[in-house]
Parts: sequence; C-alpha cells; structure tokens
Amino acid sequence: MNDLQHAAEDVDAEPTPTTAEASAAEPRPATRPKPGLVEGPARSDVSLREAWQRLWTPPDPDLIDAGFHGEWMVAGIRLLVILLLLYFPLNQYLGSPLERGPQIVLWVAVAALAEALVIYSAVMRSWGRRWIGFLSGIMDVSLVSLCLGIFLRLDRPLHATNDLVIFPVYFLAIGATSLRYDWRICILTGFSAMAQYLALITYAVWQWDLDDPTGAFAGDFSWVPQAGRLALLGIATLLATTLVVRAREQRRLSTRDRLTDLANRGFFDDNLSRLGAMASRSGEPVGVVMIDIDHFKRFNDSYGHLAGDAALRSVAAVLSESFRTTDMIARYGGEEFAGLFPGMGLAYAKRRMEELRARIEQLPIPITGGSATSQVTVSMGVSVWPDDGESLVEVLAIADLRLYQAKRTGRNRIVCATLSEEGRRRGDRRRR
Ligand code: GH3
Ligand code: MG
Ligand code: MG
Repeated sequence: MNDLQHAAEDVDAEPTPTTAEASAAEPRPATRPKPGLVEGPARSDVSLREAWQRLWTPPDPDLIDAGFHGEWMVAGIRLLVILLLLYFPLNQYLGSPLERGPQIVLWVAVAALAEALVIYSAVMRSWGRRWIGFLSGIMDVSLVSLCLGIFLRLDRPLHATNDLVIFPVYFLAIGATSLRYDWRICILTGFSAMAQYLALITYAVWQWDLDDPTGAFAGDFSWVPQAGRLALLGIATLLATTLVVRAREQRRLSTRDRLTDLANRGFFDDNLSRLGAMASRSGEPVGVVMIDIDHFKRFNDSYGHLAGDAALRSVAAVLSESFRTTDMIARYGGEEFAGLFPGMGLAYAKRRMEELRARIEQLPIPITGGSATSQVTVSMGVSVWPDDGESLVEVLAIADLRLYQAKRTGRNRIVCATLSEEGRRRGDRRRR
C-alpha cells in the first residue's frame, strides 16, 4: 500500500457526515434541475404540468442575488421619489389642515413612505432574499390603487377611472419587476394591478351614477377605454415577463458549456466566490474536487475527436446525475471538470468521489459510430474548506495539486491528502 492510499484510509476513518452530507446520500429525483446546470433548453413537447413547474421554479441562487441587487436599486429609487413627492401633500395639508381631501392625501403619502422605509431597511439587512420581490411588487401596485381610491373616498369617481397621472405609475411598478429576474414576480405584480384596477372601476360603476353630468368635467365613463387600460396593463406584464425570459436565456447561453451542457469555467469562478462567502457565514465545510480524464489525448488519437466528444458528454452526464442541486459541477477546461459541494467534509467527499470514479470506469463510451464501446478512467484531487486553505480559491489550488499527484502516482485514483499534509494537519490540531 502506498503513502497516498494510507492517507486516504486515514481520512476514511473520519466519523459521521454532516446534515448536508446525509442529504447528499439521497439519489437526486429525476424531476429536480441538474446541479451546476443552468436552466435547460426550451422544448416544444413539455406537458402543461411540466410547463407550470418550470414557470414556478425559483431562479438559480446567483440570479436571486442579481435580482436582490435589482430590488435594492428599486428600494432606493422608491424611497427617494416618495420623499420628494411628499412635499406636495404636505404643502397642501399645511395650507388647509382642516379639509378632508388634504388629510386623506397626506395619510396615503405617509403610508407610502412607511412602505418604502420598511422595504428599504429590509433590503439593507438582506432580509427575505427569496420573497421580498413579491411583497414589494404587490405593495407598489397596491399603493397606486390606493392613490386612485382616494378619488372614490372624495366622491370623485370619474377622477379615479379617467386619471392620467397616477394610473401610468402602474406601468413603472410592473416594469421595475423585470429587475428582479424572476418572472413569477412580473406575473403576480401585473395580475395584481389588473385585478385591483378592475375592482376599482367596477366599484365606481356600482356605487355612482357615472353618467351624471355634474362630474362631466372629469371626462365620460365608457368601458371601452377601461378595457384598453386593462389590456395595456396585461401587455406591460407580458413585456416585463418576456424581458426576464430573454435575459435568463441569454444568461443560460453565456454560463453553459455547449458540448457537455454543464456550467462553464466563468460561471464556476463566479460561484466559487459566492459559495466562499456563504461558507464563511455558515461555517459549514465545502468539498472541492478537480477531475481529469486519463490519457485523453491517446483516446482521441485512437478513436477520433467525435468519440472523444462522446466521452466528454458521457462523463459529464454521470457527474451531473451524481450531484445535488446545491452542488456545483462545471467543465473547467478541455477534459477537466471541477466540483464544489457545500456542507461536505473530506471523508464523505472522498467516499462519494470513489463511487463516481468506479462508475466512470464502467461507463461504455460509444466509438466507431456507436458500433463498439470503449472506456475511460479519471483521476481526482479532493480538498475541503476550511481544512485545506483559508479561501475556496486556495482550496481549489490544493485539489489541483492533488490531481497532479494522482496522475503522477498512476492515474485512475483519488488523492485526498498526502501523508505529510495529513501529519501536519494532525500536529496543528494537537497544538490547538
Ligand atoms: P493525462 O492523463 O495526463 O491527463 O493525459 P491527457 O492525454 O488526458 O492530457 P493532455 O493534456 O495531454 O491532453 C488533453 C487532451 O484533451 C488533448 C485534447 O485534444 C483533448 N481535448 C480537450 N478538449 C477536447 C474536446 O472538447 N473534445 C475532444 N474530443 N478532445 C478534447
Ligand atoms: Mg487528461
Ligand atoms: Mg488535462
């Protein structure tokens, strides 16, 4: 038994897996999205149920981050605009504090300021990353409806139904939802605006005689332009949703490796910093693996590059099937892959990678146009944050070193730690 095998056995003796590791043991159900893969390509044969599931699937974590940044921008702009607009109701109220109109308008302005402050402070504290977009979108359109509702409260129904100043703010609220990169928010906000506006005009028609000529200075009431307004709100919702769909499709293309459909190197690097920051916050370990196909040049030379491509696709498929949704697996370079496993300690990572290595070794790779098959093997270097380095970048470099060690010592194997490294780590622990 060589040094490396000894070292691996030592590491194997590590005890029970963490909670995240235990959940990793569960095979991934077929319906869950592939880890390290960005949203799948559009298919024309999806059933209604699949289409609904796809529609209601939350965006990738990094897109949630980008959407939260959009939320932060909207929260800042909302607060600034409301603070500036507060001048008008305040001025009106101070001019005639005993009149009902200015009082009601001031109350609504104060409610708007309260909404803006609550959402702004929640965003600054990073609260509700996954749901605050829904809340703020619906609150924004509700605020517009509330402003229109003031006219009803002041007994001016035609002002509510024919308004040309407040009504367009619905479009701003719906348009801003596209900055959240989540079409669910666009759809919910747009439909809320339509439902609230429809309720408002229906209430106006029901409660007042809108043909009464005394209110005619505010225009006439007709259902045709009202239907046009509702259609415009629907079109704005559709545009905001389409914008998000297009942005996500562009992003999918820019983050995916075309041959293997795994995440590409750029996307992996972005996730490295994101997962690094998450791990620092949670303190949970992160397993890191570098994988390289052995003697791949020889494989290409023997069977041709098309067979080589098929081998890359087959290995990538096994990798993406074997990881959890929280993991990240990417094509790192030509025949190299890299993986990140949040919550996975060294012993567990080593065991999982060993299973994977054995699976790939058995994998039939179609050659000579599919009439025969061949095999490939892989070498792997495994490391873990925080044991192997202070940052995930350092830990990845250690995994890379170990990968080369696996190559030097015969290939088709995993190196988790050299004996000298393991000894040093134990010494460090004893000293602590
Ligand atoms: P080692 O075991 O030391 O890793 O040897 P190796 O032959 O795998 O490594 P080397 O770096 O010498 O060769 C890598 C080969 O991978 C060379 C290149 O032609 C092949 N390769 C890289 N990208 C692709 C690809 O997209 N398709 C195909 N078919 N081959 C690729
Ligand atoms: Mg290789
Ligand atoms: Mg290589």
